[in-house]
Amino acid sequence: MTQNIRRFLFSERGADLVGICPAEALDCEPEGYRPRDILTCAKSVIVIGRRLLNGAVQAQFRRLEDGRAFAESIYSTYGLELVPNWAMLMTTFYLSDYLENTFGAATQPLGCGPVMGTLPKNTPTPMFAGPNKDGLVMNITHAAIASGIAQPGWNNFPITKRFGPRVQFGCLLTDLELEYDEPDDGPRLCDPEKCGVCSGVCPVNALPPRTGGASDVWRIAGREYEVARHRVNACTVAALGLRNEFAGIRKRGDLVHSDDPSDDEIEKAISEYAISNCSLDHYPKCFCNRCQIYCPVGEWKETFEDTGLSKGPGGLI
Ligand code: SF4
Ligand code: SF4
Repeated sequence: MTQNIRRFLFSERGADLVGICPAEALDCEPEGYRPRDILTCAKSVIVIGRRLLNGAVQAQFRRLEDGRAFAESIYSTYGLELVPNWAMLMTTFYLSDYLENTFGAATQPLGCGPVMGTLPKNTPTPMFAGPNKDGLVMNITHAAIASGIAQPGWNNFPITKRFGPRVQFGCLLTDLELEYDEPDDGPRLCDPEKCGVCSGVCPVNALPPRTGGASDVWRIAGREYEVARHRVNACTVAALGLRNEFAGIRKRGDLVHSDDPSDDEIEKAISEYAISNCSLDHYPKCFCNRCQIYCPVGEWKETFEDTGLSKGPGGLI
């Protein structure tokens, strides 16, 4: 059964990564956001990864390195928001259909989005939390780590050997008992003391550096991982373009005036923000992502630096 599921996802749905963990691997999640809070009979969590298109990522380099503002719509459409999330939603939909029809399984496909670890429970800005507006129902980042297809990055993204953090993940719960993968306990792909690129490129200091910066501990599948304490409100300013300096072609004005606005200031800014018509969500989140696209893990150098598609973090304007 497990092999059939993998074959279906790789050959029928174009998955690049598939990992499966038992529902208990996510028992440390907050109450209300564990697999069995969502599907009471859940036994397995299937996690699917699809790499971001290199072409979409390179569009964001054009915007951030060459000032080509038009590139934001390419990155938004093909890289971060519209197509990859639709594709993943369709993949989890068809996987549910396949498991219910073929094995008589109980299933629950889960919504996904550009921000895969943001729960309303721990994030006061639900507008930043995925296509459902109210936030994700389960932490897909943690599920990707529990199922062994990613490791945690200092930048709070799930990081993969081949693609670094440039992967869109989706997730499905089922009552089927399957063969399980273990978390990847091999050498850490991310060494923030030696690297620190994500902290260095963040324009609003939303990711503190490893040395002297605040951190959080993620508890997943009996392991503990230290990651940067992501200042979500600060990140929202740059990622949603809440000030003109971060926004692209369409300026929305300076809706906040500091790099670390309060929850109330974010709420007010969002209430004044024009709704997007080119994204799965109401609000485009495509104006930054430096910490994801410049992370050197994976085939970054071969794909972007050696080919001249990126000048690297030093080329940011
Ligand atoms: S940019 Fe460097 S420090 Fe940041 S997540 Fe990637 S490897 Fe880790
Ligand atoms: S998306 Fe941009 S603002 Fe947000 S943490 Fe990453 S680099 Fe910082």
